[in-house]
Amino acid sequence: MTKYIFVTGGVLSGLGKGVTAASIGLILRSRGIKVDICKIDPYLNVDPGLMNPYQHGEVWVTRDGYEADLDFGHYERFLDVEIDKDHNITTGKVYLSVLEKERIGEYLGQTVQIIPHVTDEIKKQLEKIAQMNNPDILIVEIGGTTGDIESMPFLEALRQIRMENGKSNVLFIHVTLVPTLEAVGEPKTKPTQHSVKELRAIGIQPDILVCRSGKELPNETKAKLSLFCDVRKLDVISNNDVESVYEVPLVLEKQSLGDNILDRLNIREKKHDMKNWEKYIHKMKNPKSEVEIAVVGKYTDLLDSYISIVEALKHAGTANDAKVNIKWVESIDLENNPKRVSELEGVDGILVPGGFGERGSEGKIISIKYARENKIPYFGICFGFQLAVVEFARNVAGMKKAHSIELNPKTTQPVIDILPEQKKIKQMGGTMRLGEIPFTIKAGTMAYKIYNKKEVGERHRHRFEVNPKYIAKFEKLGMKFSAKSDKNRRMEILEIPAHPFFIATQFHPEFKSRPQRPSPVFDAFIKAALKK
Ligand code: GLN
Repeated sequence: MTKYIFVTGGVLSGLGKGVTAASIGLILRSRGIKVDICKIDPYLNVDPGLMNPYQHGEVWVTRDGYEADLDFGHYERFLDVEIDKDHNITTGKVYLSVLEKERIGEYLGQTVQIIPHVTDEIKKQLEKIAQMNNPDILIVEIGGTTGDIESMPFLEALRQIRMENGKSNVLFIHVTLVPTLEAVGEPKTKPTQHSVKELRAIGIQPDILVCRSGKELPNETKAKLSLFCDVRKLDVISNNDVESVYEVPLVLEKQSLGDNILDRLNIREKKHDMKNWEKYIHKMKNPKSEVEIAVVGKYTDLLDSYISIVEALKHAGTANDAKVNIKWVESIDLENNPKRVSELEGVDGILVPGGFGERGSEGKIISIKYARENKIPYFGICFGFQLAVVEFARNVAGMKKAHSIELNPKTTQPVIDILPEQKKIKQMGGTMRLGEIPFTIKAGTMAYKIYNKKEVGERHRHRFEVNPKYIAKFEKLGMKFSAKSDKNRRMEILEIPAHPFFIATQFHPEFKSRPQRPSPVFDAFIKAALKK
């Protein structure tokens, strides 16, 4: 029978619950335990696909074409797995299913209520996930903060699962904050005490507290939390700030979290082996050189909006023994004041990530032109691919009106057009060209050198594409389309062979980048930047 670890969050959001859950997964797996991981998101959206990245950070895309919360990125990166859409439960999904059942009469005249109907549905969805891969342990992260009204039905369902399955099969780990006021200098335990009180009010006594703090928690603070929160001292784990999130598993394991969990779950202790991970951290922390990459984006104020890009750059950096310094450039500033392109002087590479909508797009085009003309390594992703085509059309092919239909629906030179199958779509949620799609790379191209094979699959998320009408013209002028999909109908990779490194992809390679297995395109980009 699968055992459960529920990871809840207290005090405030953005504490790194996802990183903690993923780290616990890594720790357990390093002992040969079969783990699986999933997430509950208590918001009403059916999936986060339509949420503004400003509110929620990046939208993660799964292999099977689901738009998920960015925590799925942590899971996939830490555990080097691919997690599919059925591993996300949202309030929207739960209610949708309950209401559909109600409409077809499945509840046989009963009054449909939060308890037991909604909680039963939550339990059923969790059980289904547990049965899918049959892990020894299923880690379940609960989004939001304890005390939020919207997470109540979920916590109630989890309480029931613990009661039904027993303490040795269900563990509660509460991730919380222990802040230190600079002027006082002492870590404060009260917020954690209050959030544990909230959990207890619904009948959940957490087993282990993982405490986010600036510095390592002193012994007295651990003792105090132990006393007031009714956990043993060894159950108070310090999750203090570290340079890189990839160090978190080591920080937790140093405090015997793995032994503690297995002990409580009655799993005979196995020897852990984290040497490989330790070696990776050592390599990451001892770079031999540095590169500066400008990322020109629209959501640069909330760095979580580009988290997978940042991680992919770091993975590629470590693989090349280099520290990657990111220079954030706000595209709207460049658009309003093109002279600010001088901010790009001296960078080793320019990256334009995925994006939507007009605001800031001309700023991105300015940066692409700068990279192309000044022979600075350029890497465009999705929107950064499409805008590279617009820039080339305008400035090399002399098509002054060239534009993307997304940004100017009336343009007479639509070099980026809507995907034919997207034309009839009215419903916006979950309807983009999504998920992993295979494509074929032409031999003898830079793309082929990068991937070193012909057939590749990468994850997509878009509605627009290069208009096939203009391809012959662009190819004549020196922009090559080196990978195509859908029987050569869709353009997937473009490159300019006369430029030292100018490559762009319609897909998002960042979603398949892993710490010890960087994305080939990111790797090539960093190599080119190092050569500059
Ligand atoms: N807005 C563009 C499209 O829908 C690009 C999307 C993206 O960058 N993810 O095609």
